[in-house]
Amino acid sequence: MPTCELITIGSELLNGSVLNTNAQFLSRKISGLCIDVTHQVTCRDRVPDIVACLDTAFRRSRLVVVTGGLGPTPDDVTREAIAQYFGSGLKFDSEQYRHIVKYFRSLGRGTPPITRREAFLPEIAKPLVNRFGIALGFYIWKHDKLIVVLPGVPMELKRLYDYSVGPLIKKKLRDRPRNYTLLAKTIGLNEPEIMRKLGRSFFRGRAFDFGIYPKVGEVAIRLRCADRRLMTQLKREITRALRPSLYSFSEESISVVVGKSLVRKRSTIAVAESCTGGLLAKILTDVPGSSRYFLGGIVAYANKAKIDQLGVLPELLRAKGAVSREVAQAMALGVRLRFHSSLGLSITGIAGPDGGTRTKPVGLVLIGVSDRAGTRIFSFRFSGDRSHIRRQAVSKAMLILWRWFGS
Ligand code: ATP
Repeated sequence: MPTCELITIGSELLNGSVLNTNAQFLSRKISGLCIDVTHQVTCRDRVPDIVACLDTAFRRSRLVVVTGGLGPTPDDVTREAIAQYFGSGLKFDSEQYRHIVKYFRSLGRGTPPITRREAFLPEIAKPLVNRFGIALGFYIWKHDKLIVVLPGVPMELKRLYDYSVGPLIKKKLRDRPRNYTLLAKTIGLNEPEIMRKLGRSFFRGRAFDFGIYPKVGEVAIRLRCADRRLMTQLKREITRALRPSLYSFSEESISVVVGKSLVRKRSTIAVAESCTGGLLAKILTDVPGSSRYFLGGIVAYANKAKIDQLGVLPELLRAKGAVSREVAQAMALGVRLRFHSSLGLSITGIAGPDGGTRTKPVGLVLIGVSDRAGTRIFSFRFSGDRSHIRRQAVSKAMLILWRWFGS
């Protein structure tokens, strides 16, 4: 299998100011092409550092992908470092420069002279014209090896990858093994539960790569193998073992899946949130077009807001407390009636670190769902810090919604 090395350039990545999301994105994409990503290296925007990384990477890998440091300022030295490594001069790409001029014209501005630098590339390189920004990407094909150099801005990098880099890698590195991949996304189970449900026999005597990736409330499984029939069999077994928690075999998020269910059932939803402070509304509205089913939300954090905005009775709050089944029920019903939605969902709980008692500890969260048939309350006890508790509450709310539609 061909191997790949990533070189991400930028002092901001090394001093912790910026998370290296480009490395994650590229590793995922390139691994998906059956190319083994064996090293990820990050270095400063300094010519000697870049040249040293490049030298090591180019010796040991068929594919080297470099990102960052292609901007117009003097500290952006990637193109100079690469030209130096290959003993090449720089040339001017007039097509990219026309694009830069057009870009600034579309903003109603003249082209800053400094940006001319961004239309240069090493003489031995071929341009990867960047329609999504102004820094020019490029590639070099030498000694049966490919080096691709891309701008650091994550959105530009992603688009450029999908538009031209992915197809280029496929074309140049043809000796990739034939592989089948599978992604299975689950909600509501943790890693050990998944492993137990799959059982030991799942892994016995069969050749495939298995990866399991947990995040709050969800676990994704990625499989890769060379045999199509084996992959079909593995998919069947995963479905059988995990069905009640398996929400997708694609990259789509639980919000997208729940959204599709709401559209299919011609249902609408409104949410009343206390301890999650709008996080559930945010997750639901991450989906483009969610206005078809998401009518709105109320963050009713203080008791007064629960009374004024949701019609929760003051005496109920006094008698049972804000974190109680009864108040969760009143909030879910209240938000449904106010928004005239088919579903009302409420979340109330103690996210901590303060406010817990013996009977109502930190991590206690109640979720209510109201529809015309009535209201159901779900009670949970989460652990972790405030942020973790809030995110677990939202994940459980999504799980409840997904199951509500019999998924
Ligand atoms: P530009 O023309 O915008 O300067 P560039 O190729 O020079 O493009 P950089 O200057 O290195 O890119 O970075 C541009 C932006 O992208 C910065 O905000 C930087 O923090 C961010 N960035 C760079 N590399 C990465 C990375 N590996 N992961 C996430 N963000 C990154």
